[in-house]
Amino acid sequence: MGASPETACPACGAETWTPRAAFADVPGAAVEECPCGMMRSTGLPKCEDQYEDQYYAGGTGARFAGPAESLSRWFRRRRAGAVEALHPAKGRVLDVGCGNGALLDELRTRGWEAHGTQVSRSAAAYARDKLGLDVFTGELTDAPYTPVSFDAVMLWHVLEHLEHPTAYLSKCRELLKDDGVLVVEVPHAGSVATALGGAWGMNWDPPNHLWHFTPGTLIKAIERAGFGGRVLTQWSWEFSLVALSQSMLNRVAGSRNTLLKQLGASTDRNCALLAGHAALGALAMLSAIPLSLYGVAAGKGEVIRVAGRKNQ
Ligand SMILES: [Zn+2]
Repeated sequence: MGASPETACPACGAETWTPRAAFADVPGAAVEECPCGMMRSTGLPKCEDQYEDQYYAGGTGARFAGPAESLSRWFRRRRAGAVEALHPAKGRVLDVGCGNGALLDELRTRGWEAHGTQVSRSAAAYARDKLGLDVFTGELTDAPYTPVSFDAVMLWHVLEHLEHPTAYLSKCRELLKDDGVLVVEVPHAGSVATALGGAWGMNWDPPNHLWHFTPGTLIKAIERAGFGGRVLTQWSWEFSLVALSQSMLNRVAGSRNTLLKQLGASTDRNCALLAGHAALGALAMLSAIPLSLYGVAAGKGEVIRVAGRKNQ
């Protein structure tokens, strides 16, 4: 999409933003809040090819090193199961921002007709060439799909990255069949980890996250796009414990996501740094378990997963 990024609130349409927080490690960047509670990051550095190397190790399709990759296989089976719980009959599924195609591969194995979009050329090429998936490289809003043709459209940790979230949600509605289901999961801006980590909280994730949702603002945003929505869960096996422990570590260390970066598959490892942060991370993980349970019970879990159905 060539149009300039959205400046109106995706949840309510207002354009009145009030400064709320700044990031010590990202000069000039700030979090601003709409009167409705929606938040956005501004002044983020522009990164050329932001999603080319950062998320995916070159060529292998692995996002993390060895054991973490096995775990992520288990996570995508859980995600596939969550989609099937909402739409038991197998049909056509679209994964918006499908990464290297791993979840689509799982859904295809289960009998779904799998399609995806991905802005990262390297990740899209992996999904197409190595996995044989149908993946469009680019923005969803430029993709050539037939309207009213999908049974399920999914955005897993994608909406918060988008310059045009409202246009994406409208396009999702256009592409879904009348009885289709929209599945959206984003980080929770009002989570326990955000409270404990302050501006170091993992869910802010500068410069990657442009928008910061609460359950209320996420529901409003999908309602503005013509859906009825409900929150399914605020728990994520993939994110909850990691977000809590890494957010606490970030605040103590005064650095952002050092442990995760050291565990990344494409990172040059610093063994002393990794050992130190891993030891602290193990301690943080112990407190993260009860804190995550409290967060889910108190409506302050680390993610928000919603299901949307088209208003007729
Ligand atoms: Zn608003």
